[in-house]
Amino acid sequence: MNINTLIIGAGAAGMMCAAHAGPGTLVVDHAKAAGEKIRISGGGRCNFTNMHASAANFISRNPHFCKSALKRYTQWDFIALVDAYRIAWHEKTLGQLFCDDTAKDIVAMLRAEMDKARAQLWLQTSVGALHHDGTHFHVQLIRDGQMTQVVAKNLVVACGGKSIPKMGATGLAYQIAAQFSVPVVETRAGLVPFTFGEDRFKPLAGVALPSRISADGPAFDEALLFTHRGLSGPAILQASSYWQPGNSICVNLDPHGGLLAFLKEQRQAQGRKALTTVMGQYLPARLVDYLSAELQLAGNIADQSDARLQDISEGICRWILPPTGTEGYRTAEVTLGGIDTDALSSRTMGVKSLPGLYFIGEAVDVTGWLGGYNFQWAWSSGWAAGQAIAA
Ligand SMILES: Cc1cc2nc3c(=O)[nH]c(=O)nc-3n(C[C@H](O)[C@H](O)[C@H](O)COP(=O)(O)OP(=O)(O)OC[C@H]3O[C@@H](n4cnc5c(N)ncnc54)[C@H](O)[C@@H]3O)c2cc1C
Repeated sequence: MNINTLIIGAGAAGMMCAAHAGPGTLVVDHAKAAGEKIRISGGGRCNFTNMHASAANFISRNPHFCKSALKRYTQWDFIALVDAYRIAWHEKTLGQLFCDDTAKDIVAMLRAEMDKARAQLWLQTSVGALHHDGTHFHVQLIRDGQMTQVVAKNLVVACGGKSIPKMGATGLAYQIAAQFSVPVVETRAGLVPFTFGEDRFKPLAGVALPSRISADGPAFDEALLFTHRGLSGPAILQASSYWQPGNSICVNLDPHGGLLAFLKEQRQAQGRKALTTVMGQYLPARLVDYLSAELQLAGNIADQSDARLQDISEGICRWILPPTGTEGYRTAEVTLGGIDTDALSSRTMGVKSLPGLYFIGEAVDVTGWLGGYNFQWAWSSGWAAGQAIAA
């Protein structure tokens, strides 16, 4: 079977690429349905982009690489597409855009765009041996027990990273990269909860509060959630993408900085109350109980000097915690690292040393923050490769 373009992976990036790659495009995926991660994303409503998306929201060994694709296919382009399909959406918080109804609308929209472009889709298809003969790719595809040998001018690798193997992640992109001597930046789990030994936060499981978290990178002002196994919530997931194993993280439980003034005020107003009772009016009571030993929260509020209240406030704002690890790829929303951007053209996503071979989406060493940025990278990089192939 001779075709122009074979795309491996019918996820966000692969479907977007197929909609723009021109005639003779076949997309294959080993899953039963296309766009499974889109379907489950954002609690079933898909946080499909972010109004504030820019290169500053992405992690990559070359922070400039993503700029070209993000500028040429922007969040506004994707929003215009969503609007053209009359999919209702809303901003939840921090520029994050979600479907009003269901993430399935985004999958259906991308399938419709693929149909418009006459791209074919083969599901439940696995990829066997592949090679390049100097001008074309020869790829064995296995579907319904039948083997088909496909010859394609272009091969687009859009099969994502290693996150959530249960949902079909295999790491095939890195194997293909290795086969064609394309360098790969070491991968690790990103946007992932931290674990701590000995059920450290078990008594706090379920407690959530605003926080500012940093770990070897920028600080994130979002919610923190204590779980049976450790720490989660958006602020933790964001910081996890910057964390270097072995290092501690800095947890600020008073991100708006009002605790010290509150305690001084309450010392005047209700001096006979226990310090822990007063603090429980500002922070979750279970958290105050938990911290009372660590911060020696004893006595009435009236007994506390200015210097002591200052110490307590600093303890709450700079809680230094050493994670033992993360939950890993099992629950990570993304894979950090991936195909080394030095090997790719930032305009086309094509491999510089082998014309016709492209890597897009999560497989590439470009990882977004939590909040719709990762899908925007999938749309932008998929579009860039599709445009280049069609041209
Ligand atoms: C639970 C969860 C929620 C998320 N929510 C959001 C969100 O709301 N907003 C956001 O921006 N990002 C979100 N993300 C991240 C986002 O889903 C990914 O960044 C994005 O899907 C990457 O797109 P992709 O096309 O590169 O890879 P994928 O969407 O992972 O697609 C890869 C495709 O390749 C197929 N494949 C893999 N290996 C093989 C193989 N060997 N042979 C054949 N096919 C193969 C897979 O079945 C899959 O269909 C979420 C991730 C998870 C896990």
